[in-house]
Parts: sequence; structure tokens; C-alpha cells
Amino acid sequence: MITSKDALKKYGPAGEKSGYMTLWDVPANLEIGVIPKRIYCNKDMVKPLEQAFKNLINTGHVNELKTWDGCFNIRKMRGLQSMSLHSWAIAVDVNAFENGLGKDPKLSPGFVKCFTDAGFDWGGVWKRKDGMHFQLAKI
Ligand SMILES: [Zn+2]
Repeated sequence: MITSKDALKKYGPAGEKSGYMTLWDVPANLEIGVIPKRIYCNKDMVKPLEQAFKNLINTGHVNELKTWDGCFNIRKMRGLQSMSLHSWAIAVDVNAFENGLGKDPKLSPGFVKCFTDAGFDWGGVWKRKDGMHFQLAKI
């Protein structure tokens, strides 16, 4: 699993450089439901996210995507000292309203698979469950 150390090594201190960021104009055919039209994210996120969105649409799980809760946000992990991977925009949160930190995730296995098949790790299986959270499995 990727840690903030890995991200720091590859991208530098969060917020200092922005060369690895992009304002991704999501292809029109993927703008379904609450999938955003534009996402400010790490360039390394574009392909995996595009694949995850395709998977959601092709399997019908896109209907389960109720809220898009963001990607880029410079902050520490809640209650911890290390930086969240959101600081480098290599993580996204979805359906936060019903997948709170430490709560039992409500996302279906099929929905989760759309992301894990596309190259993401899911926070819902962590010891401290973070069901809303998907982050790049590799950078
Ligand atoms: Zn998150």
C-alpha cells in the first residue's frame, strides 16, 4: 500500500509543486450521474479514474455513486500525524455520507471492484475503516 512517504518521494512536499497536477476534463461519455465534468487531480490518477468510471458505467454500479466527495485536499490523515494521500491528489472519496471513518462501509462489493480492478486500494478493508476512500495502489 502506498504511504505518504512514497508520495513525498515521488511528488515532493504536498502543495509545493503542481507539475504533477492536472485539471482533467472528463470525457463527455463518462459524465453520468454525479461523475464530475472536471477533476483537479494528480496526472497519475487520470487513467485509473477513467477506467473506474468506465467500470461503474458498464456494470450499472454508477447508480450507487451518490456523492463525489473530492480528490485534492492538503491535510493530515484524520487524527493522525502523517499526510493524507489526498494532499497529492492520488485518492478520492465517494458516498461519504454513509461511509464514514470507522463505520461499516455501505458500498457494494461490485462497486468496490470497479475501483480495485482499475488500480485502486480501498480504505473499507483497513483496520480503521475508511469506506469512502479509494487511493492509487501504485505510483
Ligand atoms: Zn479519502
